[in-house]
Amino acid sequence: MSQFENKVSIVTGANSGIGRATALLLASRGSQVVIAARRETEGQAVVKEITDAGGTAFFVQTDVTNESDVQKLVAETIAKFGKVDVAFLNAGIFRPAALADQTAEDLGQQIDVNVKGVYYGIKHLSSAFGENGGAIVVNSSVVADVGFAGLTAYSLTKGAVNTLVRGAAVELASKNIRVNAVAPGPIWTEGAEGMAGSREQFEAMMEPAVVMGRVGEPSEVAEAVAFLASDAASFITGQILAVDGGVTVK
Ligand code: NAD
Repeated sequence: MSQFENKVSIVTGANSGIGRATALLLASRGSQVVIAARRETEGQAVVKEITDAGGTAFFVQTDVTNESDVQKLVAETIAKFGKVDVAFLNAGIFRPAALADQTAEDLGQQIDVNVKGVYYGIKHLSSAFGENGGAIVVNSSVVADVGFAGLTAYSLTKGAVNTLVRGAAVELASKNIRVNAVAPGPIWTEGAEGMAGSREQFEAMMEPAVVMGRVGEPSEVAEAVAFLASDAASFITGQILAVDGGVTVK
């Protein structure tokens, strides 16, 4: 039997990057997957990729900064599949800028997506899992723990996310809900391209910080998410798992 057979998983920000890779992986291991994202055309393309490969997926248009959208996402998932077992709260944005140049608007948007979006997800999932509980995995970042020039505002949102994960893990354990996070190092994604311009520039910027001397791929984070979301991690909660090629041990 596949690892996620008979499971229902929600992935936010599943249109691209780490979210898309995780949605594809969970589907390939038997999960029914809800693709939660803002852009419908891109979301339906991920749904098609999954269904073409023999899997099951469903798109729900979701802006995670809008609490009623998140509430609707959970409700529509249960209406469509009868339950939810796993959620990967992945949607996130980075707006790199020197501390002195970070605008209030960009700071606010990063807090809205990266912190409030995750909070709304955990809040509405907390009463949505059944008697068997569920697993929530949040996408944090190594920059919650190590400073990186130009990403200070973004870093503080990921620090807040780690605090949220630990608090929620304690609060929700009695409902058999496990809450963990992955903390990726530099991963080559559409988001990274938007920040750095090209893969070469991203590698030049990031590789000096990585013990393994390379940037990571979305599929390498997806594997860690799948582990934390699976029954193989049944005694793990409140943890932040670095998937960073050694950034945090240097
Ligand atoms: P990405 O831009 O490719 O993916 C992010 C996704 O989130 C996109 O599909 C985007 O449309 C979606 N999104 C943004 N705002 C949203 C909103 N309000 N509502 C719904 N969806 C929204 O980037 P990525 O690199 O795959 O990033 C995914 C996550 O990984 C983020 O939380 C990011 O902080 C985290 N992360 C990325 C890296 C990296 O190097 N790429 C490193 C550490 C952590």
